[in-house]
Amino acid sequence: MKVPFLDLKAQYLELQDEFDAAYRRVMDSGWYILGKELEAFEAEFAVYCQVKHCIGVGNGLDALHLILRASGIGPGDEVIVPTNTYIATWLAVTYSGATPVPVEPDEQTYNINPSRIESAITECTKAIMPVHLYGQPADMDRINEIAVRHGLKVFEDSAQAHGAKYKGRRTGGLGDAAGFSFYPGKNLGAFGDGGAVTTNDDDLAEIIRILRNYGSQIKYHNEVMGFNSRLDELHAAMLRVKLAKLDEWNERRKQVAALYFDQLTSNTNLVLPCVPDWADPVWHLFVVRSKKRGELQKQLTDARIGTMIHYPIPPHLQEAYSELGYGKGSFPISEKVHNEVLSLPMGPSMSPSQVSMVTETVRRLV
Ligand SMILES: *Cc1c(COP(=O)(O)O)cnc(C)c1O
Repeated sequence: MKVPFLDLKAQYLELQDEFDAAYRRVMDSGWYILGKELEAFEAEFAVYCQVKHCIGVGNGLDALHLILRASGIGPGDEVIVPTNTYIATWLAVTYSGATPVPVEPDEQTYNINPSRIESAITECTKAIMPVHLYGQPADMDRINEIAVRHGLKVFEDSAQAHGAKYKGRRTGGLGDAAGFSFYPGKNLGAFGDGGAVTTNDDDLAEIIRILRNYGSQIKYHNEVMGFNSRLDELHAAMLRVKLAKLDEWNERRKQVAALYFDQLTSNTNLVLPCVPDWADPVWHLFVVRSKKRGELQKQLTDARIGTMIHYPIPPHLQEAYSELGYGKGSFPISEKVHNEVLSLPMGPSMSPSQVSMVTETVRRLV
């Protein structure tokens, strides 16, 4: 690959000494689950997200699932989710026993369209779960305003938006609670699976702490039927190293995005990302749209440039969700977007010359 889609090894090499020191520290401690590293990471990430509590869990899906469980959401309840998201958002709702109720995106930002939320609310609706897709915050003021009017909770799926800001405030504290993923490819990624819940709600934080650890506060005393979903000491130690670098890495992603905009705006056949003036995105992905996506992707692959499609099939058309009874045409905006999107290489380690290689190849086609 001349330009990899995302170079995770480069991120490791950049901070190798610090990772190696963190590894030694954990190994030497002789303590590997629910210890000092996790406590320190939770405190640091809570400060970073401008919230009172952070609870480390096993992955992003668990973070969202545990938020719903801890909020008492279950069978018979409905949770509003975007049609345009990774399937994990929907699965978290399904695992809680509730039903995901999909709402179409805004065609410019690809995030859930607040104007379409109210018609999806029924007497069973308990919460709205917006996703800050591709690293760009959803329109949270409008979503929160609807939630207040209908007595609903708002839970952010912030798995792609570590550090992103909405009207100057970080994601993770823009609703009642938020779920983060530390999957390796995310803006803040571990060397394996990891996740966290952030919230300002003391009670919710307490319940999630218990739920993630077998429903237990005191060892071998189980108050509720909990889960095993903890963020390991080793991952927490590694994440602390990366968290200290996150703002700089997000800044470098912004510079890559700025170069893309510079070099691609004249291509009228290509739809570039749209950033509302209140959004400060962290460019988890740089997603363009093209009617000739297949050709474009092939051309880039032939030039040994990595691309991906986020996502090729929307959740409502996945076999896994056939039971909900949706079909082709159920959510046309999302389907159209899914047919045209292409994610260009993006990451903190990308050089300006790599960006030029991508844009020159793109320009040859469109
Ligand atoms: C990655 C992701 C998740 C799930 O995170 P995992 O850590 O892989 O479980 C949830 N929602 C969105 C939008 C994601 O991108």
